[in-house]
Amino acid sequence: MPGTRGVPPDERADIALTNVDFHCHSTISDGVLTPADVARRAAANGVAALALTDHDELTGLATARAAADAAGMRFVDGVEISVTWGDATVHVVGLAIDPRNAALVAGLGSVRSRRTERAKEIAASLESIGIRGSLEGAYAHARNPALIGRTHFARFIAGAGFARDVANVFKHYLVKGRPGYVPQRGAALADAVGWIRDAGGLAVIAHPGRYGLPRLELERLVGEFREAGGAAIEIATGSHDSGHMAAFARLARETGLAASRGSDFHAPGEGIELGRAPKLPAALEPVWARLPA
Ligand code: AMP
Ligand code: MN
Ligand code: MN
Ligand code: MN
Repeated sequence: MPGTRGVPPDERADIALTNVDFHCHSTISDGVLTPADVARRAAANGVAALALTDHDELTGLATARAAADAAGMRFVDGVEISVTWGDATVHVVGLAIDPRNAALVAGLGSVRSRRTERAKEIAASLESIGIRGSLEGAYAHARNPALIGRTHFARFIAGAGFARDVANVFKHYLVKGRPGYVPQRGAALADAVGWIRDAGGLAVIAHPGRYGLPRLELERLVGEFREAGGAAIEIATGSHDSGHMAAFARLARETGLAASRGSDFHAPGEGIELGRAPKLPAALEPVWARLPA
């Protein structure tokens, strides 16, 4: 098999010492670079092993893999699944999944169709405060019409001058208590983890510091995730400060979960660059040590 679903055991330690980026986005979801450009940029940034993890989509993986192969960079098929857990939206990354797996493909299809419905509701809410044409405007920013999300609306809202930039849109619109907020209707946690496992992959709780969950709730989430067969927690990501990293490193050690690292790159100059997430703290088992060979 070209590239890698897994990594030969004798190379795993080397990868642990090099630059792994297991979380990023392309035009197939809400990133601005094509899958091939994401792979080429990661390689140019010194990334040794990359997973493309578009939201609820798999269709960028083949071209990203081909570009990674051409650049001599290892590539792992990934996805970031939207999960609804109680009132919270939680993201679960799948690594080394088989993109042809029927359960995974069908499950993601149902999540995407609920996104399409939500987009109409977001547009109606924005219309009610006088922001017109946002559905068409959001789709104009969506290079893949099968996957529409808040980032596409945010780019339209900022472009139309209602906010200074995308980060500011997420302060005044599209978030709880603000116009344009419609909760996501994602997969159930156990379903998302189940699809990933069914597809031969490893499930990772993405950026746990972003959910604003109290400590006990977070422990309950991690407990349910583990019960469902989850493998790892994302420790090193752009949205975690050093306090988050220390707390989640402790949680990973206590629960026997492995640790992952990813930039969550979406666009040049927005958030952090490919391959530039902080290093994993020492004494954690990296999730790449668990990848199938
Ligand atoms: P959705 O999955 O449609 O609910 O959209 C979530 C996406 O919005 C995330 O994956 C981010 O790309 C983006 N996003 C959420 N919050 C922010 C923020 N504060 N600043 C910039 N982008 C954000
Ligand atoms: Mn995103
Ligand atoms: Mn996410
Ligand atoms: Mn992401």
